[in-house]
Amino acid sequence: MANKYKVAVLPGDGIGPEVTSEAVKVLDATELDIELLHCDIGGSAYLRNGDPLPPESIEACKEADAVLLGAVGHDYVAYDIPRRVLIHLRLDNDAYANIRPLKRYPRKGEPPRPKWERDIDLVIVRDNAEGFSLQHSGMLAKTLGTDRRVITQYGAQRIIRYAMKYALQHNRKKITCVDQSHWLYSDKFFRSVFDRLLEDHETLERGYQHVDVAAMMLASRPEDFDVIVTPDIYGDILSAVVISKIGGVGMAPSACIGDSFAYFEPIHGTAWDIAGKGVANPLASILSAGLMLEYLGEDQEARVIEDAVGILVAEGETLTSDLGGSSGTAAVGDRVVEKMQSVKDGEILLLHDPLEAVGSPDRGA
Ligand code: ATP
Repeated sequence: MANKYKVAVLPGDGIGPEVTSEAVKVLDATELDIELLHCDIGGSAYLRNGDPLPPESIEACKEADAVLLGAVGHDYVAYDIPRRVLIHLRLDNDAYANIRPLKRYPRKGEPPRPKWERDIDLVIVRDNAEGFSLQHSGMLAKTLGTDRRVITQYGAQRIIRYAMKYALQHNRKKITCVDQSHWLYSDKFFRSVFDRLLEDHETLERGYQHVDVAAMMLASRPEDFDVIVTPDIYGDILSAVVISKIGGVGMAPSACIGDSFAYFEPIHGTAWDIAGKGVANPLASILSAGLMLEYLGEDQEARVIEDAVGILVAEGETLTSDLGGSSGTAAVGDRVVEKMQSVKDGEILLLHDPLEAVGSPDRGA
């Protein structure tokens, strides 16, 4: 067994613990030697111990090679208390690059879809540290609410450079800068940095869009995008548009990466409406664990997880209700583990298209 890793596991609140335990199941099913450091965090931790981020959890995150997060937020705890967890992970540890690979996994027997919708596979690189993020939220008076937005040369350069590095490493061809540079000075600045960094780049094609047009295009011809780099808030909005086309938040993983720290979490939040019922879709959390293995340099194991998820969705037999199935959270996790084994044993050869792998080449219009 190679490489011993330490991973801090922070399940948190709402559906966080349910989906995270399926991601852990999948990590346990890899060939890797991973020591898991289980940590108590979030609103539930605050209710139990009066601290949403106990010192031992902070210590575990420091000690770990990577962190796996569920979700934080609790109806009975003031908003800014569980939020301290995010501030710590994102800002104290400077996990500035939020990577959101958004891909549509086709399912056997689903209604035919137009090609543009069928083949969605793009990445949003969102700034996690600047813009309207966390520390800049503004003042509130009886008759006024404001937020301060800051984009610095340092911050813009590093997120755009990260997007460029990501695109090259993942064989992506084009980067589009999405902003509101026709009326916001901070975005004009962001775009000027983008221009300077990509000017005369030999490999990467450049694209530009204003956020409203980008949202429209993502809803109708997403193939125009490959990698999008954008300040924080636009990244959220654009992700939501794409997520609506790929099966919902249960299919959207993310990575938050800094120079010496990284955590991985599904894009969805606590979803208290379905918490504790065993019906949440764990695939976003499982795919986030896959992103974590890629970050740790375990590309092959990461690929096995992604292929297993692709096969599971393509077969369409073990899915949660958000994807039209009737299986529970744990059953989906178990099935992903079975599929990982089949992929490793070579029983299933994942060709370019998971539908072909499950004998259903029906690709729609
Ligand atoms: P938060 O306030 O923590 O962001 P939220 O409930 O407002 O949480 P999300 O967690 O993103 O926002 O969820 C929005 C809705 O999507 C939920 O009400 C839930 O019904 C659904 N949902 C979210 N995650 C999942 C999941 N993994 N599986 C199935 N449905 C989900």
